[in-house]
Amino acid sequence: MNSSILDAVETAPRERLTALQNERLAFQVRHAWDNIPYYRELMRKHGVQPNDIQTVGDLVKLPFLTKDDLRNNYPDGFLAVPKSAVVRIHATSGTTGKRVISYYTQNDLDMWENCCTRALVAAGGSRNDIVQVSCAYGLFAGGFGWHGGAQKLGAMVLPMSGGNTERQLEFMVDMRTTMLCCTATYAAHLAEMIEEKNLRSKICVKSAFIGAEPWTEAMREEIQRRSGMKVFDVYGLTEVIGPGIAYECSEQRGMHIQEDRFYPEIVDPETGKVLPDGETGELVLTALTKEAFPLIRYRTRDICTLTHEPCACGRTFVRMSKPKGRTDDMLIVKGENVFPSQIETVLIEQGMSSNYKIVLDRVRGLDRMKIQVEMLPETYTEDALVLAETEARIARALKTSIDVTAGIELLAPMTLERSAGKAHRIDDRRNVY
Ligand code: ZN
Repeated sequence: MNSSILDAVETAPRERLTALQNERLAFQVRHAWDNIPYYRELMRKHGVQPNDIQTVGDLVKLPFLTKDDLRNNYPDGFLAVPKSAVVRIHATSGTTGKRVISYYTQNDLDMWENCCTRALVAAGGSRNDIVQVSCAYGLFAGGFGWHGGAQKLGAMVLPMSGGNTERQLEFMVDMRTTMLCCTATYAAHLAEMIEEKNLRSKICVKSAFIGAEPWTEAMREEIQRRSGMKVFDVYGLTEVIGPGIAYECSEQRGMHIQEDRFYPEIVDPETGKVLPDGETGELVLTALTKEAFPLIRYRTRDICTLTHEPCACGRTFVRMSKPKGRTDDMLIVKGENVFPSQIETVLIEQGMSSNYKIVLDRVRGLDRMKIQVEMLPETYTEDALVLAETEARIARALKTSIDVTAGIELLAPMTLERSAGKAHRIDDRRNVY
């Protein structure tokens, strides 16, 4: 840890942090009330006025905001500053509905980039580092956030963007990249190629930040084993800021939420009731200092837990667990809740790769799940008997560990389509949505 550039607020005593949050929250609520007519109306409907919100304990009086609130106000119903004060936008992919446009003033960008700088420092980063940014630059909020954060750190930035794996590896070797930022699937792919091309001894990457999509501890092990880089988790949401809302420290026991900027709550996704530390529920975030696009009690749809237990790194920021899944990517199969991350963990425990696809269909009214998964190159076989035995063993493990009944189909390595962005792991053919 480079303590010389660790922000003082990251280790502030709880009382000081709370006082700062209270002050910022009161200001933020007033800002949203004054400048977003939709939000003012929503507060009125809930019988609450800005003066009612003086501390973070008052947050429960406020309504939740959902992605639908943002979609229904497309494109600029939540913009809280004049357009002339906006210097950039980012936007969600729009794959699951109408896009959300997120607006940034210069102060917002500085805040976001500082969050990324803190994350890089937590993973051992300093001005001496060479940071390869291999997430997409564009409307997707990955590339630009890491780019700005690394630049503020004083590191040398390689603005690679996503894709073109040959070129990524060439720069990684020739420029002696020491830190990497990309999506989880792409990190897995790069690690796979590093192993396949025998590049391990030429790679200097000490740490990699991966995020932007669900991934598991088993996947971390696999990437680390193949590439030699230490993998760090990061949390972000395009609607709020991109990467950097929360970041892992060297202890790697949960991600520290940047509490001077974001106030977290965990709620029961069904009832909206706030849950105590350690309980599993939906993460709700309140941005405390956003100017252009304020979000108060925003439902992230990510399912996780919080802990205020002290962390050995010295940071006092609360830690969130890796999201166990999303309220909206939770699969309901035969009436049971299943998260793809649970399936992935079992597959990797059973010696498979992290490249898989879940195919769902409905036969005579019954849900049927098939999982296609690639074997690892070192255990690849075409022996029909071994294949059948392995498929049966994985099916039993899924049934025993997570009570999922699925047909397994083993595939040769590199069979499934690779993606430079987020992986498409679910093929739902049930036509029920
Ligand atoms: Zn820590």
